[in-house]
Amino acid sequence: MDLHVSQFLVQLDPVTGLPNRQRFVQDFSGYVTQSGSLVMVTLADAKHFNEILRALGHEWSDDFVCEGAARIRAAIPKSATLYHVSVLSFAFLHSGPIAQLAAAIQAKFISPIFCQDIPVMPRIGIGAINCVSLNVSEALRACLVAAQESRGLAQGWAVYDPTKDSAHRRGFVILSQLSSALASGDQLRLAFQPKMDFASGRLAGAEALLRWVHPTLGAISPAEFIPLAETTDHVHQLTAWVLNAALAQGAAWRRDGLNIPISINVSPLNLSQRGFAAGFIELLDRRAVSPGDVELEFTEGVLATNNDIVVSELAELRAQNINVALDDFGTGFSNLGYISRLPANILKIDRSLVLPIAADRRSALVVQSLIALAHELDYRVVAEGIETAAVYAALKSWGCDDAQGYFISRPLTAPDFALFAAPYTVSAAA
Ligand code: C2E
Ligand code: MG
Ligand code: MG
Repeated sequence: MDLHVSQFLVQLDPVTGLPNRQRFVQDFSGYVTQSGSLVMVTLADAKHFNEILRALGHEWSDDFVCEGAARIRAAIPKSATLYHVSVLSFAFLHSGPIAQLAAAIQAKFISPIFCQDIPVMPRIGIGAINCVSLNVSEALRACLVAAQESRGLAQGWAVYDPTKDSAHRRGFVILSQLSSALASGDQLRLAFQPKMDFASGRLAGAEALLRWVHPTLGAISPAEFIPLAETTDHVHQLTAWVLNAALAQGAAWRRDGLNIPISINVSPLNLSQRGFAAGFIELLDRRAVSPGDVELEFTEGVLATNNDIVVSELAELRAQNINVALDDFGTGFSNLGYISRLPANILKIDRSLVLPIAADRRSALVVQSLIALAHELDYRVVAEGIETAAVYAALKSWGCDDAQGYFISRPLTAPDFALFAAPYTVSAAA
């Protein structure tokens, strides 16, 4: 085969026979500078494609992709070159209005694609970007972002929006920097928020809250980076870091004569791994921490996966007298059934339920009844997010056990926490 022919073949997709991504890059010599838009059509999202692959096997996918390509080809102007740029994605240049083009493409995908006689519904996404001298890979990436975005829109197509994309990019940067943050030794820290006992007015403990100060991005909220970490394996290293740092701080305070029970947040994903409880119990043993002086907080997300493993891990922790708290109760899909079934002994009522109680009688009734119900089920009840004296007073009058929130104190650095704690705590030596 002569060199030109073999080069030509390498630039055709073997399934559809269409020019591939390499050919696309070559045709635009690195830059898309034409007027008009670059348009991408994706046939299905990856999750949907994988589900179908699992159900039907690989053989069907060639039929799906070929028929998808033929339908796109039939919907777009004859003069356009259609490129098959990744397994499920096709791209081409277009100079007319996108809305009309998108409607023509959508019309071709109303009926299922028959793959070895099985009707499979495609779920297309259509993304476009104006071609203003864009690097080819950047243009394809941006189009893909828009095509993914389009699936959530009623019109079914989207033009690339850099402001929405910047959140994706930030997420990517955060994820890629997490390992170096773990290794850095100084980017991650813990803040400690006091928890007070309503009845005695004494300090009941500290909740350890993770802080990440990135060298260029500055402070990143755990509400932002923990859900991202939870999409990767980093979440286990992160929790290990938090457990070690929190227990080390507790030991340092004890050496200084302060005995402060510490609550630590753990990701639901940690508890859905067998052996988490055993590892934690061993860690407490090694550090000579009494199990009653620690508390693990988890959110209801814990029950989304591996229910049986989670329940048995929690039961193992409780069997050792380790406090287990159900955090953020009252958000998301909080289910009253959980509190009767779960091996947990502390219920933390979420800030969103606590906030309106001073101003709204119905919210007050809900929280008051929840406290009574939780007490009947032998829970200790903590109210989170107390910001005013009125809310504090109401919760105290309803017999809530512990209080946490800006009204008492914001999360503090470890030295500031020690100063806050000094007047309250019982000396460890006493
Ligand atoms: P959380 O465990 O429910 O922690 C309480 C959050 O509410 C903290 O936010 C705290 O600073 C904030 N807060 C406390 N009192 C008040 C108040 O009176 N008003 C208002 N508006 N906010 C208050 P933070 O530190 O940003 O943490 C957010 C969430 O991130 C935590 O919610 C927890 O779910 C998660 N998180 C924090 N640290 C860790 C960690 O080490 N591991 C894991 N897995 N998750 C963590
Ligand atoms: Mg918490
Ligand atoms: Mg909470």
